[in-house]
Amino acid sequence: MQKYDIAVIGAGASGLAAAVAAARAGAAVLVLEKNHVPGRKILSTGSGKCNFSNSAVTPAAYHPGPASFLKRTFAALPPREVPAFFEELGLLWTADARGRLFPNSFRAQDVSGVLLNELGSRGVELRTLTEVSAVTPGKEGFTLEAFRVPPQWDKKSARGERLQFSAGRVILAAGGAAYPQIGGTGGGYALLRALGHKISALSPAIVPLTSGDASLKELDGVRTEAVLTLRAGGKALAAAAGELLFTSYGVSGPAVLDLSRAALAALGKSDVFIEADFFPSLKPDALRRLLETRAERFAARPFGHFACGLLNEKLLKAAAARCGIVWAAPAGPGLPEFAGVLKGFSVGITGSRGFEDAMVTAGGCSLAELDPQTFASKKVPGLYVTGELLDLDGDSGGYNLHLAWTSGILAGRAAAKKK
Ligand SMILES: Cc1cc2nc3c(=O)[nH]c(=O)nc-3n(C[C@H](O)[C@H](O)[C@H](O)COP(=O)(O)OP(=O)(O)OC[C@H]3O[C@@H](n4cnc5c(N)ncnc54)[C@H](O)[C@@H]3O)c2cc1C
Repeated sequence: MQKYDIAVIGAGASGLAAAVAAARAGAAVLVLEKNHVPGRKILSTGSGKCNFSNSAVTPAAYHPGPASFLKRTFAALPPREVPAFFEELGLLWTADARGRLFPNSFRAQDVSGVLLNELGSRGVELRTLTEVSAVTPGKEGFTLEAFRVPPQWDKKSARGERLQFSAGRVILAAGGAAYPQIGGTGGGYALLRALGHKISALSPAIVPLTSGDASLKELDGVRTEAVLTLRAGGKALAAAAGELLFTSYGVSGPAVLDLSRAALAALGKSDVFIEADFFPSLKPDALRRLLETRAERFAARPFGHFACGLLNEKLLKAAAARCGIVWAAPAGPGLPEFAGVLKGFSVGITGSRGFEDAMVTAGGCSLAELDPQTFASKKVPGLYVTGELLDLDGDSGGYNLHLAWTSGILAGRAAAKKK
């Protein structure tokens, strides 16, 4: 059996970065990936544009902390070195007004492309459709059991040939449980448990929220810009601005995803609401005056004429219904209440959509069991754990991929140095 210096389990964001870093440091690297293509999740990031980092990465963007762990991580690999790493691989990038970093081409393929080109040019062996089922540490390194597996869309074929690999060090980069439809099966947690690592409770994060409000079904598919306030127990807990998407089950869109962590944390303790302000640039008085002037202009005409052109019609109908306004009757009665609903359209939150629709997994491999500067296991010498498997998840805005690259690069470098 051929022995590799390093075996990387998972050709996702952190695994590919780890393999590049290790190969550059001169190690013989094997990458094992169960999907039919490497970097499948990278291709879906940022709606295919890949928001691969952020210009303002700090420990505060990550949960649940502790900040001291990430301070040491970012001392070992300062955040600015991640875009520099990609530049060296040939990727030009650009930042938007919110500090989110994207490839200049706005094509996620280019991000995985530069990583795969580098691996190819350095002779790294990459085996797809190969799922690792067990990792056994021994005196001389690790033995990996694996199986040839059919592609995910082939539900009929059974798993195939049993394979065995031998490696001095193992980088476990198998990703989290989010988006199982593109490979997030969470199998890496089972491998970690079998190796004696503690896994904290897993839950979906950056995830659409569900509501028990049946009237939202009428709004299914409506998108609008809004400022959202998260309220629980009578207090405003957090706010986010951006696109809000109504769905048959509740609410989604970037602004909701930003609030989802705080909303789920508050559930169970008190009633939780998201309040949408559809006219954030107008103070309540200004909006009321605008509506009153409009009502005079459309006097004696149906409310629908008064409303047409104000905002998405389905939203206006839902807001009108909340104030008892009759769509066919002239505008006038209920106008102050209508203005109030447009400044604070409230949606009761009952839960989240789960891993199938979540961007990342919260919870994972206990940080107390890892070195923050190398991601080396303190339990199993020669083992490294990276990416979404860690008990760390970032806000939306490129922070999760940033952590995947950072942990991968540091683990790859450290694993290549260790003999
Ligand atoms: C739809 C979507 C959009 C996103 N957009 C962004 C974004 O724009 N910006 C951002 O920062 N983050 C984004 N994220 C989050 C980000 O993609 C992840 O946090 C990141 O990919 C995690 O990297 P990873 O290496 O830990 O895992 P992954 O990238 O998931 O890679 C893990 C790999 O391991 C493989 N694997 C698992 N088990 C085994 C096994 N037993 N044997 C062999 N291979 C195995 C998997 O098939 C997978 O390819 C998004 C997530 C989703 C789902």
